[in-house]
Amino acid sequence: MPALRVPTNEFAGGWVSLARWCKATGLAAPSCRAAAPLPTYALSTTNGSLLFRAGSQVAHWDGIELRLGFAPQWIDRQPYIHALDLRKTVEPLISGNWRLCSNSAPVLVLDPGHGGEDAGARSAVERRWEKQFTLDWARRLQALLTTNGWQVFLTRTDDHEIALSNRVAVAEEHKADLFLSLHFNSAGANTSQAGLETYCLTPTGIPSTITRGYSDDWALEFPNNAFDAQNLQLAYRLHRTLLEVNGHLDRGVRRARFLGVLRTQQRPAILIEGGYLSNPREAHRISDPAYRQKLAEAVARGLGIQL
Ligand SMILES: [Zn+2]
Repeated sequence: MPALRVPTNEFAGGWVSLARWCKATGLAAPSCRAAAPLPTYALSTTNGSLLFRAGSQVAHWDGIELRLGFAPQWIDRQPYIHALDLRKTVEPLISGNWRLCSNSAPVLVLDPGHGGEDAGARSAVERRWEKQFTLDWARRLQALLTTNGWQVFLTRTDDHEIALSNRVAVAEEHKADLFLSLHFNSAGANTSQAGLETYCLTPTGIPSTITRGYSDDWALEFPNNAFDAQNLQLAYRLHRTLLEVNGHLDRGVRRARFLGVLRTQQRPAILIEGGYLSNPREAHRISDPAYRQKLAEAVARGLGIQL
């Protein structure tokens, strides 16, 4: 019988008493912020503070939303967090003083979502498409970064369709240090949904925030899972700076396993959904070149560029 394939990031743990974990890691004990309707706790560290609620996967790090894999539990009047959430979300955020890469001239591959026949989402306010806005956003960001010493390559520079695997191949070809895929969102007929979502690959052993009907096998380990911590740190940084320009419409740093442009990447890789084209107010903003310039500047600031 073949040996069972045990994911490398699996470790005994399950539910961990946060008070015990804080003691073991030298952090102050979590403090109770509210007892009802759900017990709400804060974990304060010198690098930031995590606010979370028992029974909810929605947590906040320094006021910015992120999704845990498992809703924290309330056991014997104490908060418990899943060991994988501690390792894959809480620990990377606490140790947040991460350098993007050691390369003095970082290589970034930017992926303007969609193209050609695959137009992406349609704007609610005009006959224009996601594929046009993502390419313009990427070009603006490329200009900002190249004047600051970065090498930036686009997976497409015109309006043609390109397979997800070929987008990954562009990053391989240029030995990219980082990969960013740029998209805008759609909620179909729901015109009120609005805000920013930033995605990274789901770590092994954790359920995804969103599956869009695809299977979500928690046991799978992809090449990009080697970068779980950097993915989350990068996603959080870019999410934070983008919220400064979109009026803090925050739908959270999320995780998904089905995104083909992320999971085989051999480098930190994230996907940004920069607002809803199905929401007339956001679609109006996205159609404004000055707003797209602000989105590009926000990503550049998140990458550590002083503008
Ligand atoms: Zn898209």
